[in-house]
Amino acid sequence: MQINNNKYEAVIGLEVHAQLLTETKAFCSCSTKFGSLPNSNVCPVCLGHPGVLPVLNKKVVEFTVLMGLSTNCRINKHSIFARKNYFYPDLPKGYQISQYEEPICENGFIEVVGSDKSIKKIRIKRIHMEEDAGKSIHEQSGYTLVDVNRCGVPLIEIVTEPDINTPEEAYQYLVKIKQIVQYLGICDGNMEEGSLRCDANVSVRLKGENKLGTKTEIKNMNSFKNVERALNFEIERQISLIEDGEEIIQQTLLWDADLNEAFPMRSKEEAHDYRYFPDPDLLPVVVDEKWIELISASMPELPETKFKRFLTQYSLPEYDADILTQQKSIADYFEQICTITQDFKSASNWIMTDVLGYINEHKIEIEAFPVSAENLGRLINLISNGTISSKIAKEVFSIMIGSNQNPEVIVKEKNLVQISDEGELVKIIRNVLTKNQNQIEEYLSGKDKVLGFFVGQIMKETKGKANPQLVNQLLKTEIEKFRK
Ligand code: ADP
Ligand code: MG
Ligand code: ZN
Repeated sequence: MQINNNKYEAVIGLEVHAQLLTETKAFCSCSTKFGSLPNSNVCPVCLGHPGVLPVLNKKVVEFTVLMGLSTNCRINKHSIFARKNYFYPDLPKGYQISQYEEPICENGFIEVVGSDKSIKKIRIKRIHMEEDAGKSIHEQSGYTLVDVNRCGVPLIEIVTEPDINTPEEAYQYLVKIKQIVQYLGICDGNMEEGSLRCDANVSVRLKGENKLGTKTEIKNMNSFKNVERALNFEIERQISLIEDGEEIIQQTLLWDADLNEAFPMRSKEEAHDYRYFPDPDLLPVVVDEKWIELISASMPELPETKFKRFLTQYSLPEYDADILTQQKSIADYFEQICTITQDFKSASNWIMTDVLGYINEHKIEIEAFPVSAENLGRLINLISNGTISSKIAKEVFSIMIGSNQNPEVIVKEKNLVQISDEGELVKIIRNVLTKNQNQIEEYLSGKDKVLGFFVGQIMKETKGKANPQLVNQLLKTEIEKFRK
């Protein structure tokens, strides 16, 4: 079914959980290390033994305030922790420490490019601190294993107002959130590994209507693309229900990426009655002006500032600066290359085409890209100082991808140095010319295009090593000599 875009409008609000990159957990000194032996990073506090006292990790506050400041939030000087009570096998305490009333950050916004290409403001209702639960691992054979290593790992939850209107905007919003947390260095932003998780709330209404429709909540999406797909699915489903005169039931759905469909969660798991109350073991969090200033002073450069700096410092076009600053790791890679070479635009071109091309094709992050910034910088220098042609450079680059060898060594070992010796080139050109008399005639009769043929032959003769500028220049002089 085609969504009837003219009649209905979707309303979307997102709840994003981001796992904070602290060394230790939110309320105890256990390690947050991912992939440790199951149930090894635990202590009486995160296991919820009776009588233990949680102590708040200062870094959790600092990271959350950084996020709040970068998303234009008000930082509440006084906020409190609450207990969110529910029973779950991977939550030994029987409650999750979270914030309910009085979260630490409120009333922010970020801007994304909306579906109509204009800049759209998406308001952030709140950002609060909380702890993660453990993990249940459902075995094929029918039983379930529990790993509580993740219990107590710090999270922030970022909740938007229902300001998003299309699945595409939801996608853009998520890209922006990921970009910010990565720039801040507070979360690795990896949705596949669960360090960034998103629940999507969605309703539809007739265009022009002000009242919100009944919403459903979709969970269990492990990529941004799946969030977009799940929203498309659910919007269509809701519209067709309304068109059929049926009611939308407020419920939670689970996205099934294999089937491309969302299914209602068993209703038992859904009965929310968390009985929140202030956690009596934890003091209110007080963030005074001086601390906010200190945190603010430690704020790393954000995407927009980096973008502007790339325009001036490296004289890049806006297009390049935009692509290079999408991800901090890519911007860093670019800047490392620029410590080796002065040819900034070439560095940008190599990244935008060859490096990103490879990364996207192999679905890896730049950290796993086999060519170091240093070696790519050296390669660019070999082109700009005329040692090799850009055509040969592509060949060297593909060798580097397999070995990350120093390109200077590759060029020497494989004897790829560009031929820029005029005498040598003239000899080769004359040789090629005399073998192709017919083409000379064609050229002399006015067909300039034949020059391309000769350049091709010369390149073939030199295995691509002839200096192209010199070849073009010398070829014209030599061929003209045949004119009587
Ligand atoms: P709940 O109490 O069900 O958790 P909240 O008011 O906390 O609901 O909102 C959760 C998320 O759902 C927020 O991102 C909010 O913007 C969004 N939301 C609330 N109402 C609607 C609605 N009618 N349609 C779409 N999204 C909504
Ligand atoms: Mg809620
Ligand atoms: Zn612990």
